[in-house]
Amino acid sequence: MNLGELRRAVETGGVPRRSVREEIRENLIRRLQANDTIFPGIVGYDDTVIPQIVNAILSRHDFILLGLRGQAKSRILRSLAGLLDERLPVVAGCEIHDDPLAPICASCRARAREEGDALPIAWLPRDARYVEKLATPDVTIADMVGDIDPIKAARAGRQLSDELTMHYGLLPRANRGIFAINELPDLAGKIQVGLFNILQEGDVQIKGYPVRLPLDVLMVFSANPEDYTARGKIITPLKDRIGSEIRTHYPRTRHHALAITAQEAWVDRNGGGLETIVPAYVREVIEEIAFEARRDQKIDKRSGVSQRLPISCLENTASNAERRALVCQEEMAVARVTDVYAALPSITGKFELEYEGELKGADHVARDLIRRAVANVFDGYSQGADLRQVIDWFEMGGTLQVDDTSPSADLLARAGEVQGLVALASLAGVSADQPAPLVAAAVDFVLEGLFALKKISRSDEWTYQASPESRGTGRALDAEALLEDPRVVPGRNPGRKKKYYN
Ligand SMILES: [Zn+2]
Repeated sequence: MNLGELRRAVETGGVPRRSVREEIRENLIRRLQANDTIFPGIVGYDDTVIPQIVNAILSRHDFILLGLRGQAKSRILRSLAGLLDERLPVVAGCEIHDDPLAPICASCRARAREEGDALPIAWLPRDARYVEKLATPDVTIADMVGDIDPIKAARAGRQLSDELTMHYGLLPRANRGIFAINELPDLAGKIQVGLFNILQEGDVQIKGYPVRLPLDVLMVFSANPEDYTARGKIITPLKDRIGSEIRTHYPRTRHHALAITAQEAWVDRNGGGLETIVPAYVREVIEEIAFEARRDQKIDKRSGVSQRLPISCLENTASNAERRALVCQEEMAVARVTDVYAALPSITGKFELEYEGELKGADHVARDLIRRAVANVFDGYSQGADLRQVIDWFEMGGTLQVDDTSPSADLLARAGEVQGLVALASLAGVSADQPAPLVAAAVDFVLEGLFALKKISRSDEWTYQASPESRGTGRALDAEALLEDPRVVPGRNPGRKKKYYN
């Protein structure tokens, strides 16, 4: 297509011609009328964040998303590109995607004069119209807006003041599209002033050039709320010019949280023909770790606990199950609660510790979170169940050594010695005649649940035994000696020890 054909298509209404804000607004209106999903894959924001974004777009506002890490801010901003037209006519070869009917750069204006209606048109897909920049203190005006390109000038034999020697920054390159700046407060004050001028005047001036470019850009931002509201971090006129401030949040319900994690985590694998299953109670434990972490005083509230914690934890938990199944040559990989402990490396890096937490160490804090998460979940699953028989067995002096490396059949054989234990798999909705890896995982859940609720205890060697409190009541043989070294207490079944590979 050339300029002449485009002009006729615009005149007959075949190709729309409007500003980017108007374009996004019209497309949004159409989606609302059709009752279509506006932000596919964004869960839990239907009644909070999304209506506010819709209002901002309908108002044709630039807006900022304020939220902690892992609250889908970048994802929402990226999905705004989905509200653009599928393709947009631009001057072929123009760095700033000029409107062929009204080019603003010197090169395109010259070409339009020379070539007239024969000026070739290119079609820009919507994804190419979204530009994103992570703000850092070293971002310069040249990066954002543009600069003189002396090499370009020398090659073309031009004066430095010639507009054709300009090197365009990110913002002009986002012309007729969306420009997103993440972590806005990290931008130097001088650059914020530059941005303000652009938002205020609607055009940019590149240092050393007499020209102004009236750009057509929707600007969107993201920031940590405390950074954004801290005095002196954002220049007031810039803040004043941003149309809407929209607060994001972590999932408000367990249901939403589970749905997000299930959508994002890679669990549906097929490693060597092996089926990987993560039972619902394991998923709930993993999700509960994030909820516990977000209210833990030992963890820094300001930086938050990203939804990426349960997502990576779920993936790593599934991998531990996969590894066990491969090594033990089992037919299916079923994740256990003890696999969540093995997934510690996917948890410890996902939060910042307060001083009290630092004293204990990330590993200790993470283990404690898992235990509390298991307690919450198991408490729900075991309501009304009679756990006494199993607790009694331990209090009579029984011990059981099983861990995340135990093959399923092995685990079940040893658990079979504990009266009433295997039957409790029904608490997790599993019956004894189901495949061994499923039953073993459910039994592991019961043991870890009893341990988390402090009904029984567990040694560092992963041996389950009576809790210290009950051993102190005289039912156990020698509580003191047991506390010092449970392995040497006489008369106990030491169970099989975990194998160590040095
Ligand atoms: Zn141009």
